[in-house]
Amino acid sequence: MPDELLERLRRFHDHTFPGVQDRFQHLVDDGQHPSILFIGCSDSRLVPYLLTGTGPGELFMVRNVGAFVPPHDGSAGYHGTAAAIEYAVLQLKVSRIVVCGHSHCGGIRALYEGAPPGAGNLTEWLKLGQDAALPVQISPEALRRTEQRAVVLQLERLMGYPMVREAVEARRLTLHGWHYVIEEGEVHVFDVQTGAFLPASNATHSGTGPYADYDEPILNELDGSYARLHPVCTPPDAA
Ligand SMILES: [Zn+2]
Repeated sequence: MPDELLERLRRFHDHTFPGVQDRFQHLVDDGQHPSILFIGCSDSRLVPYLLTGTGPGELFMVRNVGAFVPPHDGSAGYHGTAAAIEYAVLQLKVSRIVVCGHSHCGGIRALYEGAPPGAGNLTEWLKLGQDAALPVQISPEALRRTEQRAVVLQLERLMGYPMVREAVEARRLTLHGWHYVIEEGEVHVFDVQTGAFLPASNATHSGTGPYADYDEPILNELDGSYARLHPVCTPPDAA
């Protein structure tokens, strides 16, 4: 039986790599200097390099079920996503953090339907999205709203990381909330000023917030009233 995966590895080495070898050599000699930490869902249909037109060396990436961010609660443990955030901000000094959820997310659906039997770690992990779930019957509209609310929830949690908050307040770092609609091929970006997700084709920036002067949860303000309730500073990108 042919090993298709082995064939693909050989194809990459023999045919693809020669075309990008110089670029990789430079990244080895000079080290990596990505400016973006991309926190994305593990879903196979979310392909960050395609969406952003980026290549080798440009995205520092961590992916997990739901694109969730654990709270910074002072504990130290086997927290892979938290470790990646610390490394990206403290060592790589990225200037943007993107949290990217997406349509038809199995992790978000599981907030309503539960995890498969035997998935004890997954059941625990899903608690990180629970506050985004709505007290309604599951429906395409409810799932879409929950997917977007979950992104905002993770942005809020990011601001709980001291090194993130410090960099944001010093205007060295911006946070971007994205919801990728698979069937449209379009990212909808969160706009903290209006409290809404806007299709990238109609947006004036690649997603904002929360920013300095933010101190209160914005999750329940996803109806456009956030800007009126909590005036925010002008994000660096829009300045
Ligand atoms: Zn997902």
